Amino acid sequence: MISGGSLNNRYAFREMHFHWGEVLHGKCDRGCEHTIDGNSYSAEMHIVHWNVDLYKTELEALKNPNGLAVLGLFIDAKAINKKNESFELVINMFSKVPQMNDKTKLEVSPYFLVPICTEKFYTYPGSLTAPPLTENVSWILLAEPIKISIDQLERMTTCTSDYGYIANNYRPIQPLNDRVVRSSFCLHPESRS
Ligand SMILES: [Zn+2]
Repeated sequence: MISGGSLNNRYAFREMHFHWGEVLHGKCDRGCEHTIDGNSYSAEMHIVHWNVDLYKTELEALKNPNGLAVLGLFIDAKAINKKNESFELVINMFSKVPQMNDKTKLEVSPYFLVPICTEKFYTYPGSLTAPPLTENVSWILLAEPIKISIDQLERMTTCTSDYGYIANNYRPIQPLNDRVVRSSFCLHPESRS
């Protein structure tokens, strides 16, 4: 369950999944569904939750206003980064979902990669990034990325679809329109008057 911060209700865990880019020549500078000042990390983890205060079932929450909250974690994969031992659990889980649309039960807490300090985050009203694209998602993106080695990112690319290995499974950046993205912290403290 998550609550507090920018959320007015309690949201229960529904599922988690990843989006990631393709490693080319030992690096990967895309794979996320959000960018910060135009910069992208290599992968993004989404922990999807539904509003248990407003709705009785996940299905009801999925279709209705303020039904969902997604906690997003950026994954920074670079050749200079050390192997992240905790992230090995994620890679082990990938071997249990070898085909597109496979699902597996989590053997660990979905929050095991969430940093202890969750005070710095971005939030905005958005949608699911895959069908049904419902516009009822409170997005919460932690500012601090999880660091993994480039080798670990490459090892995420073991799942296959009818078209080969799955990578670059992210939706391109969408127009902001009139939405406001808020941060829980001061972005440019030096410019404060
Ligand atoms: Zn997602």
